[in-house]
Amino acid sequence: MANIRENLMNVEQEIQRACDRSGRKRNEVSLIAVSKTKPISMLQEAYAEGIRDFGENRVQELMEKIPLMPSDVRWHMIGHLQRNKVKYIIDKVSLIHSVDSFALAEEISREAVKKHVTANILIEVNVAEESSKFGVTVENAPELVAKIAELPAIQVKGFMTVAPFTEHQEENRIYFHKLMQLAVDIDSKNIDNNNAFLLSMGMTGDYSVAIEEGAAYIRVGTGIFGERGSVIE
Ligand SMILES: *Cc1c(COP(=O)(O)O)cnc(C)c1O
Repeated sequence: MANIRENLMNVEQEIQRACDRSGRKRNEVSLIAVSKTKPISMLQEAYAEGIRDFGENRVQELMEKIPLMPSDVRWHMIGHLQRNKVKYIIDKVSLIHSVDSFALAEEISREAVKKHVTANILIEVNVAEESSKFGVTVENAPELVAKIAELPAIQVKGFMTVAPFTEHQEENRIYFHKLMQLAVDIDSKNIDNNNAFLLSMGMTGDYSVAIEEGAAYIRVGTGIFGERGSVIE
């Protein structure tokens, strides 16, 4: 069994160290506990330790877990989202990290208007251009941001990326750095709004480097809840 309390203490210490190394404040980084495939008892344990941000990657699982947790939890949709499922989560999640097409953004906008909410989203960027991953290219990202900015009831808050799997997190620094450059570029053009673009990047294996490169959200699953079963990712 994972010792969630001890894991969280270790993660917290790593976050603080990465902040110290890069001259950032701890409150500039939000820790999202990625609880996919994990039972509600483990989420409750993390909640008791002060965690309020939880990440899930499947709509069905999200729908099952939301009513079982306190209402001050902020839910993050971090997995690939199908258009026909947007309606189930639109008014229940605080941030959708995985928008990778204009068609999906249009559907989110439509449902947000219907439900009288503003949908906060991130554009998923496949920085390393891995064929196995979702996301737009760095090259196509600015145009997608500009197009989505025209839609009602949807706000692009920044970018998300899933970096390549690696044993050595230094190898992912270039991708995190590239995403930060893209965000700075967008900010300077002020395409979307006046708020600085936020970056969701860094997982269990590489969040220290991601923080050093400017991550606003890190998404940590295994490092908090332990390994997931091999059947479902
Ligand atoms: C599963 C998942 C994570 C967490 O991965 P760990 O390596 O377990 O920390 C983060 N982001 C996304 C998009 C995921 O699907």
